[in-house]
Amino acid sequence: MDEPLVARMRPFGETIFAEMSRLAVEHDAVNLGQGFPDTDGPRSLLDGAARRIRDGVNQYPPGPGRPELRAAVAEDRRLRYGLEYDPGSEVYITVGATAGIASAVLGLIEPGDEVVLFEPMYDSYAAVIALAGGVRRPVPLRPGPEADGGRFAFDPDELRAAIGPRTRMILVNSPHNPTGTVFTAAELEVIAGLCRDHGLIAVTDEVYEHLTFDGAAHVPLATLPGMRERTLAVSSVGKTFSVTAWKTGWVMGPAPLVRAVQTVNQFLTFTANGALQLAIADAVRDEHAWISAQRDSLAVRRDRLSQGLRAAGFGVLRPQGTYFVMTDIRPLGFTDGIEFARALPRTAGVAAVPAQVLYDTTAEGRHLVRFAFCKRDDVLDRAIDRLTTAFGTASR
Ligand SMILES: *Cc1c(COP(=O)(O)O)cnc(C)c1O
Repeated sequence: MDEPLVARMRPFGETIFAEMSRLAVEHDAVNLGQGFPDTDGPRSLLDGAARRIRDGVNQYPPGPGRPELRAAVAEDRRLRYGLEYDPGSEVYITVGATAGIASAVLGLIEPGDEVVLFEPMYDSYAAVIALAGGVRRPVPLRPGPEADGGRFAFDPDELRAAIGPRTRMILVNSPHNPTGTVFTAAELEVIAGLCRDHGLIAVTDEVYEHLTFDGAAHVPLATLPGMRERTLAVSSVGKTFSVTAWKTGWVMGPAPLVRAVQTVNQFLTFTANGALQLAIADAVRDEHAWISAQRDSLAVRRDRLSQGLRAAGFGVLRPQGTYFVMTDIRPLGFTDGIEFARALPRTAGVAAVPAQVLYDTTAEGRHLVRFAFCKRDDVLDRAIDRLTTAFGTASR
């Protein structure tokens, strides 16, 4: 049979992630490739969900989500960021942030419309823009000098140049996966200014909003002047509470934009889960101490893994947030991250992700490899030992 997959999805046929996970299993490697924690979320959250399931909260919730969760999310946004959303018409619950972003793109992008975004990028963005028939206009984030921490940032002129008459939307992920950059208020103001000048819709992926380090504060783009009315903010429970399997997210924005999301999403998934939403509502309201302890613990683990990687000879680009640290493999004598990451489970017993697969148009990530530090200390230490054995002596 001829290739049955629609042409616009053919470039997305196979990802390197599946291959990396298979190699990790095959070589019994420590898997620092995938971004999921190996410890559980808060006890009250797990118990709260189990109790609701036993109590019979097992049928379809309302399409836009349980009112308890929409109210908790709206209150949380108001208390932490001063953003007011009407829980009835401006907050919508989705099957993870992924479905929220997908519905926003599918509901707002006409074929031929352009979407400006930053590369490297979370892998679902390119696929869903292609599904909508949209055109991607990626702007590179580039690392500064490693001696200064190697923070990734964009060039405002390149961002300006990416916007044209067909640009409809800008997709902004901060804190940013995979670079760990947390956009500053000044960087966000550049983005906001362009959105206002060109009448763009902003979609913000804020799934790491709580996971920032060294005092870097997450600033939602919607808090900037003129932005609330044109921004769909997306967040979710998975990263905040270490329950990535729960796939429950929320989209917040002005009612007409949220209606566009709803119109698409109701036919993709109809609703998200029920019992989990009630437990998440409680956790969003009550588990602030757990979140800040988790943030502190992640910062320590970032440092632990970064130190180990540096000792093994990697260049380390210091992340300000998220689960990930980007490394430069050139000091080890390698140049091709895809080749390097493919061999790593066999040569070192560790799995990682080559950053190049998260770039759309440039080869600027060729020498970069992403490691996840959202793992237990003993797991990180085992990975560090193995990497030091494989590379440490050669590079010193
Ligand atoms: C993990 C991740 C997501 C997925 O969130 P879900 O709520 O699990 O769908 C979205 N965006 C980024 C940048 C992520 O790293």
